[in-house]
Amino acid sequence: MAIEASRDVVFQGVTKRYDDGTLAVDALDLTVDAGEFLVLLGPSGCGKSTTLRMLAGLEEITEGEIRIGGAKVNDLPPGARGLGMVFQSYALYPHMTVAENLSFGLRMARRGERLEAAEIAARVDEAVDMLGLATELEKKPRDLSGGQRQRVAIGRALVRRPKVLLMDEPLSNLDAKLRGQMRIELRRLHEQHGTTTIYYVTHDQVEAMTLADRIAILDGGCLQQHATPLTAYHRPANAFVASFLGTPPMNLIDGIVRDGRFVAGDLAFALPEHLDVADGPCTFGVRPEEVAIVDTGGIAAEVVGIERLGGESVYHLNVAGHSIKALWWRQDIASPNVDLAVDSAVVFARLA
Ligand code: ADP
Repeated sequence: MAIEASRDVVFQGVTKRYDDGTLAVDALDLTVDAGEFLVLLGPSGCGKSTTLRMLAGLEEITEGEIRIGGAKVNDLPPGARGLGMVFQSYALYPHMTVAENLSFGLRMARRGERLEAAEIAARVDEAVDMLGLATELEKKPRDLSGGQRQRVAIGRALVRRPKVLLMDEPLSNLDAKLRGQMRIELRRLHEQHGTTTIYYVTHDQVEAMTLADRIAILDGGCLQQHATPLTAYHRPANAFVASFLGTPPMNLIDGIVRDGRFVAGDLAFALPEHLDVADGPCTFGVRPEEVAIVDTGGIAAEVVGIERLGGESVYHLNVAGHSIKALWWRQDIASPNVDLAVDSAVVFARLA
């Protein structure tokens, strides 16, 4: 029974090679702590779904080991792994009410494994409270909004009290406003009932940043970084992570470091003192919000484009032949730089 209660997930050297030779996941080592909300993030084709499907037992593991609560599950069928799943297409039973959809899985359990009716009712009540579905219980799925349907799908997984809840792009069918609401709700649910380990797949960096306790970022089947959202943002492990997180993404310039100066073609400047970089080839990265346009003391640049978004503006700068984006926010009509126009000559500086 100790295994039943334990909810941590360990991938050890997990590799997936499909029959056609595609290496979808390459020697993945990842530990998801009990109760952690883990978001697996990366571009399309990086191996996120394959990883989730191997954990679910829907895909064979070519090499390595997956353990749930200390027990190796490589050869366990999906139903024996104690997992709940919520997918992008959350196919509810159209002819059943919300209440019936929620309890269906429990009512259909095999004899001997089936719960008492009172226990089923209690679990459904709990999910209904948690997900705010009390007024929708007698409705059919067609009478619900997209967000409500998605909540029913989550409830249906939660009533089974899974050790680990797997979610594969569960919000991608919803419109932007609903996605925003559901992100807040999912995070709140996890904080209030955070005993379930959640393993959540998305390509959406905003979902990852707002939902995750830690993000695991994949590229080309390889784990790039496993860290809290803010650590991945402020201390990216490599240029891929740096450029994948952030809108607009981090500015990256390839160049060379010599005697504490960074040189890339006609661009040359002294590296900030806190950067201790050995001489040699180097990629310099600076986030758009760390770039300021100043009157003097910076590097000459030219404004080649402006995106005014209201609350913030993105300045596209040409700095000695390199493209740099600068993000400024809280601008009002009276702020001095609002008059900056395309073709203005400016100087830019990295903020201290
Ligand atoms: P993601 O979920 O990050 O978009 P996937 O895990 O679906 O990525 O796919 C990872 C890689 O494996 C991709 O190159 C994809 O084309 C390939 N792939 C996925 N499923 C199969 C399959 N059944 N057979 C062969 N290759 C596959």
